[in-house]
Amino acid sequence: MMILEHLEKKKNILVVSHIQPDGDALGSMLAMGLFLEKLGKTVTMFNENQVPAIYRFLPQMHRIVQSYEDINKFDAAIILDCGDLKRIGEIYRVIEHIPLILNIDHHSTNTKFGHYQLINPDACATVEIIYHLIKEVGITIDLDIAYSIYTGILTDTGSFRFQNTNGDSFKIAMEMIELGVQPYLVASKVYDTYSLGRIKLLNMVLDSIELSANGKMSIMLLTSDMLKETGIKIEDVDGLINYAKQIEDVKVAALIQEISKNTGKQVNGSKGLFHVSLRSNGGLDVSSIALVHGGGGHKTAAGFSIESTLLDIKNEMFCISERL
Ligand code: 5GP
Ligand code: MN
Repeated sequence: MMILEHLEKKKNILVVSHIQPDGDALGSMLAMGLFLEKLGKTVTMFNENQVPAIYRFLPQMHRIVQSYEDINKFDAAIILDCGDLKRIGEIYRVIEHIPLILNIDHHSTNTKFGHYQLINPDACATVEIIYHLIKEVGITIDLDIAYSIYTGILTDTGSFRFQNTNGDSFKIAMEMIELGVQPYLVASKVYDTYSLGRIKLLNMVLDSIELSANGKMSIMLLTSDMLKETGIKIEDVDGLINYAKQIEDVKVAALIQEISKNTGKQVNGSKGLFHVSLRSNGGLDVSSIALVHGGGGHKTAAGFSIESTLLDIKNEMFCISERL
């Protein structure tokens, strides 16, 4: 049975994706939401965080809201691009009031939450799975949906550079271009429209990079002070870790991001809440490291949150580097 058949008698549908949304989270919400509207559904597209500045060019992005009236009014929820339920943010506490939850995702570590799942780790992005659903139902892809699908593929493949890039990524992107998507417009908004503060922040995080003794792991730091100093919001920070990953001989890169600190003490010593992003060249499966800490992801890109000290996290990472 096709997953969307479960929605046949459902009218009011909540579409949601992960906190700090990236191009695939936003693209998949919009593509799925607009598609469901074509099927006659009433749709609310919800994300805990605001749409990052670089994605505000997406047609219909104003449809993505940060609040909803009443969780009980929804007949069904579709959760997109989330390896586990908590990735949707605080709404996870009440989402189970919704009688039907569909989980559509491409993370190999997906915990299979929800009533029905459509999980394809071979898909380069969640939008690829949605593209196939739309094709299966036989609905025409309009330009707004095409921009959403194209952007999800472009960003989740790192501009067709990451290991999840394959012929299908190009084929689908090509089809979206034939439907009217302008690649230059997307690229210029997503990659070449940074505020001065964002560039200064890049300078700070680049300056923070440390290498392990064997040179095979790089660690990059993003503190709340850096954000404060540059006036950059956390949702407007994405992709910094790729710089740490680009260093020659580096097999695994880690970005340690300070979410909150307990005291005003030196960040090095005090315990705080951190998010660790990991990237690998494929030799080491970083999702296994993330899983140990209750996170998840893919073989080459994963993440987890941890309450610890910066020093302890760094030490753990440098221990891992000895296995590389
Ligand atoms: P990023 O490092 O860009 O935040 O995430 C890299 C990959 O790991 C993404 O596919 C993302 O969905 C996943 N990921 C990051 N943080 C977490 C987390 O805390 N939990 C889970 N399950 N997945 C995460
Ligand atoms: Mn994704």
